[in-house]
Amino acid sequence: MKNSDMKTVLIVGAGFMGSGIAQVCAQTGYSVHLMDVKPEALEKAKKQIHWSLEKLSAKETLQESPDAVLQRITTQKDLKSAATVDWIIECAPEIAELKGDIFQELDRLASVETPLATNTSSIPITRIAKNTRNPERVLGIHFFGPVPLMDLVEVVKGKKTSPEVFEQGVDFVRSLAKTPVRVNKDIPGFVMNRIFSAAFREAVDLVSQGVVSVEDTDIGMRLGYGWSSGPFEVADNAGLDTFLLVNEFMKSMKEEHLFSTSKMIEEMVKQGRLGRKAGKGFYGYTAEGKRIPLK
Ligand code: NAD
Repeated sequence: MKNSDMKTVLIVGAGFMGSGIAQVCAQTGYSVHLMDVKPEALEKAKKQIHWSLEKLSAKETLQESPDAVLQRITTQKDLKSAATVDWIIECAPEIAELKGDIFQELDRLASVETPLATNTSSIPITRIAKNTRNPERVLGIHFFGPVPLMDLVEVVKGKKTSPEVFEQGVDFVRSLAKTPVRVNKDIPGFVMNRIFSAAFREAVDLVSQGVVSVEDTDIGMRLGYGWSSGPFEVADNAGLDTFLLVNEFMKSMKEEHLFSTSKMIEEMVKQGRLGRKAGKGFYGYTAEGKRIPLK
């Protein structure tokens, strides 16, 4: 099937990333099925998407009304629509076994024509694809969050991903008005996360040693290196619980040298300081989402 004829998308997992991807797909004209095992996650996703669309509309960067975009999104608690959609993007938590089970089910339900993409941050595509009978249609489409604001998407080729499906992935990303970067080899953490993690590991070590504050590190990376957000701002947006899951997975792949091994993040997660979504992480957040320093 030609990419231009592929107009329906199933998104599995309606958390921070799944809801953002659903919004962007709907904004660019796709009919979206947004699935989650938790009804409360679907409710939260709908509210979040509505809030985000209203903000874009107020800035006059939305082509149509928020309601027109929202009408293209339906929510569901099971994977039945896998049988009829053109694209599937999995956005469940970063747990290899969980993603494996989901792909086994998707492989059973979806037509062999349907590409199966995962938004994993670190797990090799080849490993996830082992749970399917057609690993050539499995690829990584790794979005950056917050998805409605971030242009970059890594398209990752697993060992068995067919060249056609890889290129379909690149075209699909372009159809969402995002910029694809091809990752031609399937390594844990892909490219951008490996580079970011090297900087983040050092930033966490320096703050842990009392060399510099969280705020000053972020200011420094913005002003000194032109980052649009400092490393701690990025981490709070992503969610520190997701960072820990990625960290655990990288350890299992003997790649822990790349990621932060600091106890600081473990402690913060134990205290519920998960980042922006919890209202508290390296920074505090007001109910309106404004970042404030923590006392
Ligand atoms: P999240 O915890 O916000 O959302 C995950 C959602 O998946 C939850 O709503 C959960 O209820 C749902 N879920 C759990 N089991 C499920 C199942 N069996 N079927 C369907 N849904 C299920 O996590 P997130 O931050 O959105 O991350 C999702 C994926 O995207 C992870 O693989 C993560 O590594 C990757 N990712 C995250 C970021 C980031 O900045 N947070 C960036 C890029 C990629």
